[in-house]
Amino acid sequence: MSVRVVARIRPLLKNELGKDTIVTAESPEGENIANPTIIRIPSPKNDAESFSFQFSSVYEQQATQQQLFDGEVAPTVKHLFNGGDVCVFAYGNTGTGKTHTMRGGKSLADRGMIPRLLSSIYRRCRKIEKDTAGATQVEVALEYFEIYCDRVFDLFEPPEKRTPSGLPIRDNHGKTVIVGLTEKPCTTLKEFEHLYDQANMNRSTSATKLNAHSSRSHAILCVKVTQTTETTVRVSRASCIDLAGSEDNRRTDNNKERLVESSAINKSLFVLAQCVEAISKKQTRIPYRESKMTRILSLGQNNGLTIMILNIAPLRSYHLDTLSSLNFANRTKKIEVCEVENEPIYRQMVKPLAVTSSLGGANLTRQPLRPLTAAH
Ligand code: ADP
Ligand code: MG
Repeated sequence: MSVRVVARIRPLLKNELGKDTIVTAESPEGENIANPTIIRIPSPKNDAESFSFQFSSVYEQQATQQQLFDGEVAPTVKHLFNGGDVCVFAYGNTGTGKTHTMRGGKSLADRGMIPRLLSSIYRRCRKIEKDTAGATQVEVALEYFEIYCDRVFDLFEPPEKRTPSGLPIRDNHGKTVIVGLTEKPCTTLKEFEHLYDQANMNRSTSATKLNAHSSRSHAILCVKVTQTTETTVRVSRASCIDLAGSEDNRRTDNNKERLVESSAINKSLFVLAQCVEAISKKQTRIPYRESKMTRILSLGQNNGLTIMILNIAPLRSYHLDTLSSLNFANRTKKIEVCEVENEPIYRQMVKPLAVTSSLGGANLTRQPLRPLTAAH
């Protein structure tokens, strides 16, 4: 059981060029600047102060889909074929690039982690079958569902076939199963692309002030890999999750329906954060049963590898939400606070962070102010 938390800063969109950016990537002093691991962001109350957050890796604005895949997702394929489970999450506010990261665009270069992972899985299937002269057979099957307001909906079913309460979930010998969920065998990348595109059209989306196509649901694609020989059957799963937006919905002019959505989203993201933290600290009790999503994924219960990609937009307009996302990810990380000596505002600022860090058991250290990289 292990977890890697990495950050990805998205580039500015055409209509954002020239706007104020506040997020910078850095390397620890004396280390290779080409491989940053630190995100720095100013305090919302005082630009002269900044917070820095340590990650396993930081991908900067110019990082390509290929680089992110090669660095984070490709190495998990071996684990999957050795019989281990893999979970890849995209976490972040609406508009920070979660769907771009997971699904991506149409062109080959823009393809996201999901189609790249499938491509890599099919390549490996063919290699195994060839290397064993057909003695090992590999089958790939897909499940694709969304969790919206704590209800599970099959994305392989058209929306008109949904029951409002969603699909029931049950325990089956300690394993959580979604009753009635479609499992589609899928033998080629082409077939995958067709199924995936169709299913994505079934995803619940509703307009919010932040993003007209904002997604208020978690979309979970499970790729089940079954390797069969004459004597053994080995099943493992790769789950790829495009999470609902993590923004603070009190600031997005929500109506009642949005608020119900928000509280379900907040609860599930909170439990997810606790699970990620518990896994990273190798705790024996992982509270995965406390939300539907973590329960269905059995997060942390199996021989699993979890990658959390924290998507960040570098703009000042996302300042508070970016800080809260960083705090979410940093439950498992060391928090560094750069302060201005004797600056009274510091106490105010550090308080919420100190609470988070004591929850997360992270160390809070004070450092003399280092010059901020100028925003550009
Ligand atoms: P989210 O799913 O988090 O709401 P999106 O994936 O829809 O965010 O991204 C918001 C916008 O930013 C989209 O227009 C998307 O194409 C663009 N975008 C996000 N990340 C990148 C990136 N790394 N490179 C280019 N464009 C990106
Ligand atoms: Mg999205």
